Amino acid sequence: MRTRKLYYENPYVQKFEAKIVKISKKNDKITIILDKTAFYPEGGGQPHDTGVIEGRNGIAHVYRVLEENGEILHFVSIEGKFEEGEEVIGRVDWERRIEHMRHHTAAHIVWGAIKRVLGHEVKAAGSDLTTKKARLDVFIGKGKRITAEQIREIERLSNQVILENRPVRTYFISAKDALERFPDVELKKEVEMVRVVEIEDWDVNFCGGTHVSRTGEVLAIKIFKRERISEGTDRLLIAAGKSALSMLFDAHNTLQEISEIAKTKDVKNWVISIKNKLKDAEAEIEKLSSKIYAYKLLRHLERIERFGVLVMEVDCPKKLLSEVARAIVAEEPNAIVILGRKDGGAALVGAAGRNIPKFVNVSEVLGEIAKAIGGKTKGSAEFAQGGGPKGEKLNQALEDAKKILKAKLLEFTRQQP
Ligand SMILES: [Zn+2]
Repeated sequence: MRTRKLYYENPYVQKFEAKIVKISKKNDKITIILDKTAFYPEGGGQPHDTGVIEGRNGIAHVYRVLEENGEILHFVSIEGKFEEGEEVIGRVDWERRIEHMRHHTAAHIVWGAIKRVLGHEVKAAGSDLTTKKARLDVFIGKGKRITAEQIREIERLSNQVILENRPVRTYFISAKDALERFPDVELKKEVEMVRVVEIEDWDVNFCGGTHVSRTGEVLAIKIFKRERISEGTDRLLIAAGKSALSMLFDAHNTLQEISEIAKTKDVKNWVISIKNKLKDAEAEIEKLSSKIYAYKLLRHLERIERFGVLVMEVDCPKKLLSEVARAIVAEEPNAIVILGRKDGGAALVGAAGRNIPKFVNVSEVLGEIAKAIGGKTKGSAEFAQGGGPKGEKLNQALEDAKKILKAKLLEFTRQQP
């Protein structure tokens, strides 16, 4: 026997009287079928209702509701006793259901706004909802995305429709009539009768869910996230009802707290200035750290005639390596420096002070020793860097560099008159 669906006759029924048609137990799961019910079964992207069924001698907690061949199955855990044929009272958990109704109606309102903002070629690619949010997947076309500006406009129109408190009508008509009257609306499966959900002068959809009867009851709509789920398809996450209000209140409260910390109402510009200051400070720290490393390393400077040679393996952070080399030769214009650092492979950097003769070319020397670590370098006579995969050969490469540099500087000195 098909169950009479009270939620279609009046979606606002929270409490109802009914008669138990059947109690079944299968795999430890107890189900109750009533002659009529206000419990909505899961389907069409809307979750099932929960609540209780109260009998003369027991109470059944409804934790899941499914529809099978026109019968509504209430999955229950029972305290006490129930009998077939017994008159019972059903109570739907209204807090849960009303939020489903709000989010379901919100999805239709937003869909109407999407068509107006993005054009009628866009297609729904899936949707569902919970008490906290509704999800709408929107196919907008390959290579396209919904812009932030379009989202704001969709949101604005949606909330306008809420303020206008338009009627939401639901009714059944034959599939043939539905397709004739609403040729633009997609009928997803073959059925005899179609349930039409019509938001006055805004949106028409075929939908089996529960909805509020006027748009004002949705309270508010906030599109809080946009994700790309595949090429050409964007997902919008929408909060409505209490969930939207608490999201907006929470966001505003947080903003106020930040504003108090910042001691300004212009929080946005405050954040931008903090970000810029942070960037400057980080650059300054990097510069100072490089200098500190450089000063520490200067102790290892080896004198060759009037020049200084510094060739070492170091452990400073990789991003500081070239700054450290530059800082050493800035401090000591008679120095030439080659630093190596192991990082899986090896990184090399070389720099020559401004008093180092052009006769000694850093780029050439670095290129020569880079062969040992299986890598390459690039740069000029004054500054060069590079690396290679063979970190274990770094020591040998640096030893070679030391010999080459010393030889070159000695040769240069001998040639001087
Ligand atoms: Zn719906």
